[in-house]
Amino acid sequence: MTDLLVVEDDDQLRKALVLTLRSRGYSVHAAATGSDALEWVRTTRLDVVVLDLGLPDIDGVRVIGQIRERSGVPIVVLSARRDQSDKVTALDAGADDYLTKPFGIEELLARLRAAARRSGAPVDSGVVRTPDFAVDLGRKRVVATTGDEIHLTPTEWGVLEVLVRAGGLLVPGADLLRDVWGPQFEAQTNYLRVYLAQLRAKLEPDQGKPRYLITAPGLGYRFDASGTGG
Ligand code: CA
Repeated sequence: MTDLLVVEDDDQLRKALVLTLRSRGYSVHAAATGSDALEWVRTTRLDVVVLDLGLPDIDGVRVIGQIRERSGVPIVVLSARRDQSDKVTALDAGADDYLTKPFGIEELLARLRAAARRSGAPVDSGVVRTPDFAVDLGRKRVVATTGDEIHLTPTEWGVLEVLVRAGGLLVPGADLLRDVWGPQFEAQTNYLRVYLAQLRAKLEPDQGKPRYLITAPGLGYRFDASGTGG
């Protein structure tokens, strides 16, 4: 299991991140201040640190420097600051990656997988097979049963990944929009129509009769790996 430390002083955001990341199979510790974060780094083996830059006690960039004095753990920075120089300062101080708030949870998960891969931590690397193609969640690619890779755009992959990881359960359209595009896009159901059509064109043997990417009208979408469309 990948051990994460989430450092965020915004109670609501911290709790939401902890819940979401736990539901995605991470072991998650949480800190609300820079000094708590440094205590965790001193005492616990961590695979990735997710660090908000605006902390109440110690500036986030200084926290990065102090973590780096004792640990090479990958650091993914979260910041509401849009200033490009903050990004450079954080990266120069030793951060590995940088996300500007607001961000979509799928984007954070992608950065965490990349960070965990770099640190050699185990990643969720399942392959989900259907009669026509296989979805490799670890390598983020789709391979047809003929052996040819089916190329997806990053957004197409994001939509497919959320549906596949739901394990056949219905994913409400608003959840899909929030996970792939971000919370401010929950009402953009036209995005889903566009991207589902693109995915079906690439993955479905008969786009007019989807077997894998099933629409539940007015509710959402689900992925049927059996390909029976049932
Ligand atoms: Ca903050």
